[in-house]
Amino acid sequence: MADKIVGIDLGTTNSVVSIVEGGEPIVIPSAEGDYLFPSVVGFSKTGERFVGSVAKRQAVSNPDRTVISIKRHMGTDYKVQIDDKQFSPQEISAMILQKIKTDAETYLGFPIEKAVITVPAYFSDSERQATKDAGTIAGLEVVRIINEPTASCMAYGLNKGEDDNAQTENVLIWDLGGGTFDVSIVEVGGGLVEVKSTAGDSHLGGDDWDQRIMDWLIEDFKNRYNIDLRADRLAMQRLKEVAENTKIKLSYETTAKVNLPFIAADATGPKHLDVELTRAKFQELTADLVERCEIPAMRAIKDSGLNLHQINKVFLVGGSTRMPAVQDKVRALFNREPASGIDPDKVVAMGAAIQGAVIAGEVKDMVLLDVTSLSLGIETVGGIFTKLIERNSQIPCSKTRIFTTAADGQTVVEVHVLQGERELAAHNKSLGRFELRNIPPAPRGVPQIEVTFDIDANGIVNVSAKDMVTGNQQKITIQSPTSLSKDEIDTMVKEAAIYAEEDGKRREEATVRNKANIEIDTAEHTMRELGERINPDHQIALRNLIDQLRISLQATDLAKIAADTKLLQDQLYAISTDAYYALDTGRVAAKDQSEEAKRQEIYDLSSDEEPEDDELFGWFNQEEGK
Ligand code: AMP
Repeated sequence: MADKIVGIDLGTTNSVVSIVEGGEPIVIPSAEGDYLFPSVVGFSKTGERFVGSVAKRQAVSNPDRTVISIKRHMGTDYKVQIDDKQFSPQEISAMILQKIKTDAETYLGFPIEKAVITVPAYFSDSERQATKDAGTIAGLEVVRIINEPTASCMAYGLNKGEDDNAQTENVLIWDLGGGTFDVSIVEVGGGLVEVKSTAGDSHLGGDDWDQRIMDWLIEDFKNRYNIDLRADRLAMQRLKEVAENTKIKLSYETTAKVNLPFIAADATGPKHLDVELTRAKFQELTADLVERCEIPAMRAIKDSGLNLHQINKVFLVGGSTRMPAVQDKVRALFNREPASGIDPDKVVAMGAAIQGAVIAGEVKDMVLLDVTSLSLGIETVGGIFTKLIERNSQIPCSKTRIFTTAADGQTVVEVHVLQGERELAAHNKSLGRFELRNIPPAPRGVPQIEVTFDIDANGIVNVSAKDMVTGNQQKITIQSPTSLSKDEIDTMVKEAAIYAEEDGKRREEATVRNKANIEIDTAEHTMRELGERINPDHQIALRNLIDQLRISLQATDLAKIAADTKLLQDQLYAISTDAYYALDTGRVAAKDQSEEAKRQEIYDLSSDEEPEDDELFGWFNQEEGK
């Protein structure tokens, strides 16, 4: 039994654990008999620790010593301070995982040593690492970190049956939990699950619906008694609890009574909250929240390259999708009935358990592909961000590209690894940097540095750079101390769209200036090489053109820089044509050919396609066909 692998959905609000038994995933209940483990940790004044539903319950009377939504801080240096002790997000998460482990062991009757843990698809490398670390602290070997939408599909995929000839389907996963909303587009078929795109809103979830009920109750109470409950912390905690219960009740009934005795008191005596909320009123209070779901849904569809009509199925995940208004929204948007059959709270954990069974060798006919949430690449000359791995690429994956040097005799290159969607390096998130040294001195453009990005199945990134001549290699595993929140990712993607035009202009500027500098270099190099063999008229013309271009470079007129670069280039062509005929033709021609051959090799190694005319090839802006 020791090789059994459980699946854990380590959620922001609640966690769930599942295991495959007899080929089917079952959900393991907590010691309290509930299948949800609230992701809450509480500390008593006497040093006791509570995890799960006990902690959630005592949160009402002990808000300062209760930790909720720790998942939002995973991978950051955030600390929880309790008395004189500090806890990292990993440690708090480990307490939740420990409770899950212990309860599961008691229920199953054998030790649990290995787990598959799910994370949101947008989780960055450090957030994944932190999740893995939390497992380790809890005494679990985390055999795989998988994306939540992928897990959901695993759960539905298995339920679909094992027909290898089944048609591929495009599935939209609508995951509305307690604090976040995530949408993923996934392709499912023939035992294969492939995430195409993801989008979301990190501040949209069941809590917002609860808040609307709270606001309404507070307002109503104020109108009746002229008492503002917001000032009373304990009353607010009670209101929060009752608001959630009322919301849940309204998923099944058309009216709900809200009753909180002794919620406040004034000179005339104690006051009780006793009102009725109809589903219709509740839906009116929260209509805009339902509408907000549409934005990420549309963005995910757009990012996947599909259109609304190409979505064949919609899976509902997360407790908040039980609200009738949310289901109606899905029906109206997609003109279809969302898939049913699996409890929306349990789907993710069940999928993780299936993945665990695949790894353990119990389930054989499922493969798993995941995607990256942001593009990855390096900084190249002119501060340009050159992507190696595009956003939404499948993982695990590996990409290699050849780069070269920007200056003659350059012996060191810096590999600056970045993540993001903007065209300029400075606007993206820096993940780390390293240097590759001892490159044998050579003219710029000659050394070949092979840069490889590897993303493993857990989404952890390795970057290496290798000098093709010496075989010298340097690498880095990205373990950044800080990491991107979902918000940051959303913001980065949005900003990239907003600034696309501006960035494009700056990229163009960098490219034009780069070309000009290289042309000046080449011209000066040619003058040194050919010296007296250039006829005097050409020499004067060349010098004038170099000076003219240098002056243009000091100003901002890009068209002028480009035009002067072209004039200098034409002059250089004229000179080399002269050189062929007038001088030692054989020697010069042979030299040019060998240079051309070298460049060709670089292009061949760098990508399958011919590079575009102005494509940048690394620290050196290498141009084609020169
Ligand atoms: P999850 O993060 O998936 O566990 O979802 C938790 C959220 O789902 C919380 O905001 C719950 O209040 C909400 N929730 C659970 N059951 C229901 C229900 N029947 N109707 C409305 N919301 C629900």
